[in-house]
Amino acid sequence: MLITSRASSLTPSLTLSVDSKAKAMKAEGIDICGFGTGEPDFDTPEHIKAAAMAALDAGFTKYTPSSGLPELREAISAKFAADNGLTYAASQVIVSNGAKHSCYNAIMATCEPGDEVIIPAPYWLSYPEMVRLAGAEPVFVETTLESGWKMTPEQFENAMTPRTKMVIINTPGNPTGAVYTRAELEALAEVALQEDITILSDEIYEKLVYDDAEHVSIASLSKEIYDLTITINGFSKAYAMTGWRLGYLAGPPELAKAVDSIQSHSTSNPCSFAQKGGLAALKGDQQPVIDMREEFNLRREYLCERLTKISGISFMKPQGAFYVLANIAELGLTSQNFSDRLLSKANVAVVPGVAFGDDRTVRLSYATSIDIIKKGIDRLEEFCRSL
Ligand code: PMP
Repeated sequence: MLITSRASSLTPSLTLSVDSKAKAMKAEGIDICGFGTGEPDFDTPEHIKAAAMAALDAGFTKYTPSSGLPELREAISAKFAADNGLTYAASQVIVSNGAKHSCYNAIMATCEPGDEVIIPAPYWLSYPEMVRLAGAEPVFVETTLESGWKMTPEQFENAMTPRTKMVIINTPGNPTGAVYTRAELEALAEVALQEDITILSDEIYEKLVYDDAEHVSIASLSKEIYDLTITINGFSKAYAMTGWRLGYLAGPPELAKAVDSIQSHSTSNPCSFAQKGGLAALKGDQQPVIDMREEFNLRREYLCERLTKISGISFMKPQGAFYVLANIAELGLTSQNFSDRLLSKANVAVVPGVAFGDDRTVRLSYATSIDIIKKGIDRLEEFCRSL
């Protein structure tokens, strides 16, 4: 069968491929310490599961409106107001099959051939592929460990051309763990305003911030920025609901309308009873979110303390999400080679930074138990010493 260049030019997801290699080794009985995963290891809180089960029991198994249940869109609108200082009417909110789907819809609704999209690197690996699927071109801005893995306003300005349509800001960031401050976002917003660049603000890790870091929604900075921004969030990371496939976006009314059209002709509504779970997540007790963050924080502290003692590795203590991006350049291996050898020789799975557009680094996720982290770091330390 003939496959389009659109499909055949896509890069397979390296995060998933490392994960599957590690899983295959595990299935063979090999004791793998996995730092590869991009999802919380916790189960979804009970009251959320109970709400979905009650919905199923009540026969809530039919289509819902394509853009999501009205009561869920209302609850998301209220969440934006309470948590983010953002006023979005429920009609400006579209619920989709995960924040990934929301990002895809947002890009499909706004980008087309001839457009450029600025993406700070290292980046979440789906952004460039989504941009290419829309026929547009990703333009990467390299950030460094020294700059805290953040794009500066100067870098943003230098990357801009008359074709720039969008900039993607992901804070807290995957794979960097970087959290932009209010002042940093204000400076970037100022640059975007010069040429009315659309901002895609991916805030999926919002609830996972540590120390004195504060999550700021860029759309909350001013009315002008609000009008340029598409805010994306979801349930996967905050509520340990990755398998439920539930996320959402909000933006100006014309954007919401466009995304609604795209969704109504592609996937229709996200799963009906998953939406009931999402409603319970937003309206119910938020203590599980706080407890999970506390546990992530303990692991972060431990992992960072151990990593500082490994010579050849440098890193920034992450302020958000559940990843540490470790610079391994001094050890003299490419990120892929490092990751492959680490997996085959020491049975430790990490994700090569080349997947995120940075071959000097590997990503370690601490969304795994403290016991596995301890064992895995012992092995990593030994492996690095042997190089
Ligand atoms: N954005 C970022 C930065 C992510 O890391 C992820 C998940 N890996 C997503 C979006 C998508 O999340 P989901 O589709 O599960 O809601």
